Amino acid sequence: MGVFSYKEVYIEDGKKVLEVNVLPEKHCNFDCIFCPIGRSQNKVDIQRSFDDMDSSLKDLEIMIENTKAELIFINSKGEALVNDKISYIIDVIKAKGLPVRLLSNGYLLGRSEYIEIANKCDEVIGEIKTITEEDFQKIQRPIDGYTIEDYISSMVSFNKQYKGKFIFEITIINGYNDDEESIERLKIITKEIAPDKVIIERIDDERFKKKLWINDVRFEEISKELLSIC
Ligand code: SF4
Repeated sequence: MGVFSYKEVYIEDGKKVLEVNVLPEKHCNFDCIFCPIGRSQNKVDIQRSFDDMDSSLKDLEIMIENTKAELIFINSKGEALVNDKISYIIDVIKAKGLPVRLLSNGYLLGRSEYIEIANKCDEVIGEIKTITEEDFQKIQRPIDGYTIEDYISSMVSFNKQYKGKFIFEITIINGYNDDEESIERLKIITKEIAPDKVIIERIDDERFKKKLWINDVRFEEISKELLSIC
């Protein structure tokens, strides 16, 4: 019995998308206070091996065949790049002639070993949720030594050499990046990264909504402003 898990297949732009989680439990280099998966017991940014990868890969191949998926979205419980089989997982999917979308928080996209792996994917998603060093440390609680400057420059340098579609996901958080100054800064960061697509999100999880959610009107205003630069 494999350890990968799947979401219900859905249609996006006319394509059947299969979302797969390739981590048995949460492994991330951040420990965001609003993480929908919960606390990071395993804060990690180097690869490690997990049990049952052979049976998990077999399950993945069966899922691909049974669902007739047309795009595989690797959306894991944390940072998929830390699974030491991630490169092979991507190869297995690509060998079936299918495109791969990889979700990363983006920090590791500045490291050569991970750049090589992400470059194999047709689409890579990088994210931003805070823009000041203080907020990054306070609410995203990364591994010691990480800085917001390195975070942004990792995505900038990655996308400069990346040939696929880079999708930049910006999450607007009440009280952290929803004021005019922050929006201006987000515009500058977005221009620097130069993504192919920008997605604007907000914190929708009921557990954190009360403090961190922004209302529809403000969300609409900010989304328009940020998307206007694309
Ligand atoms: S980067 Fe994503 S997975 Fe990692 S702790 Fe933050 S919200 Fe959770």
